[in-house]
Amino acid sequence: MIYHGDIFYCKDLTDFIAIKDGYIIVDAENRIVDVCSAIPERYEREPVRDHNNKLIIPAFCDIHLHSSQLVNTGLGYDFPFEEWLIKYTNPAERQYADLAKAEAINKRLINQLWYYGSMHSVIMGSTDALSALNLMKHYDKSGMRAYIGKMNADVAAFGDQAEDSERSVEETRLLAEEAKKLSDSVFCCVSPEFVPNCSDRLLMRLGELAVEYSLPVQSHLSEGEADVQAVKDRYPELSYSQVYLKYQLFGQTSTVMAHAIYTSKEERTLIKERNVTVAHCPIALSNIPSGKTMPLREFLEDGVNIGLGSDIGGGHTLNMMRVIEQTVHYSKFQQFIDGSKPLSILEAFALATLGGGKVFGEVGSFQPRYHFDALVIDDEELSPEAAGYDIKERVERFLYEGNAGLIQERYCHGKKVDKPFPDIIPK
Ligand code: FE
Repeated sequence: MIYHGDIFYCKDLTDFIAIKDGYIIVDAENRIVDVCSAIPERYEREPVRDHNNKLIIPAFCDIHLHSSQLVNTGLGYDFPFEEWLIKYTNPAERQYADLAKAEAINKRLINQLWYYGSMHSVIMGSTDALSALNLMKHYDKSGMRAYIGKMNADVAAFGDQAEDSERSVEETRLLAEEAKKLSDSVFCCVSPEFVPNCSDRLLMRLGELAVEYSLPVQSHLSEGEADVQAVKDRYPELSYSQVYLKYQLFGQTSTVMAHAIYTSKEERTLIKERNVTVAHCPIALSNIPSGKTMPLREFLEDGVNIGLGSDIGGGHTLNMMRVIEQTVHYSKFQQFIDGSKPLSILEAFALATLGGGKVFGEVGSFQPRYHFDALVIDDEELSPEAAGYDIKERVERFLYEGNAGLIQERYCHGKKVDKPFPDIIPK
């Protein structure tokens, strides 16, 4: 299949490709063969899907969010972290253990991620395994792709919930087995909440499980002063990252760590060496400030791979365009703290596509061998032809001022994805 339109994508944080009236050539395995301004002779018989004058960009990747929190986004941000956790987060997690409620939340979540153009997501559930399994099964039919985990937490150092250690491991194993019965669009993700809320034994068993089943891992790293101190007290000899590494939860398999705010240069080197991706979640960090800001530019200069996350319910929206915009705003304020260069809107776009996509393999770009994951955008109302904007300017306007209603078509691994649950509103 060949897709025709006004193409924009990133090769890396500084290399952006824009082709007016371009063609994306996709092979039978739904991988990109070439992007060009004229169809090469050998592909002349291939069918062309025409998106004349429409933008075609890589789909977004939302690599950190909590499914159980969809019901309380926007609530309680006037409280400090711990109070917010107990007043809002934990009750929502308990509610998610009611399977009928979880099913309704899961369907709405999938619809919203679809609406906002996030074709790949990394999702942490609650400690309840059946609600995570329910999400996996619905995701499997949606046409989109995700790493999904039940959260593991057997210590209530923060919040008021703790599960039985053995049960936590066995339920995760069960999810890994169940995921094998589904298509390869859904993976079980090992999901320790964070070090303070997991015993040594649980961390050890989860790492063993991740390696045994080759499961991706997601967790939180150095989110706030309190969890950093708790880890220091428990492991005076190790850095936060080294604790995860010790238990095989740090790059032994594809790994995403959210936040990583209180992270030294040595730790950043380890993150890079271990090929761990950091999920930067600027909206959540603004709603529930952690005591320090994220020096994102330093991470990038040190070569750490960064993706973006909505982090609902710390974040209040799944809209990745808002997350991209807030990444820029956050970095503009950060420059007054450490003198760092703010991110451009296109750099932030690169993090939301290429950066997050790396967690899934060849995802988030239109380079050869990448999977064709794309959004087709009708931006005529924002950037009418007569205005004379180039493609880069049109993308900028879409990211700042556009909305998901302008997304006409969504593709995941070469397949057009329609609204997963058409009967459910909103979105
Ligand atoms: Fe989180």
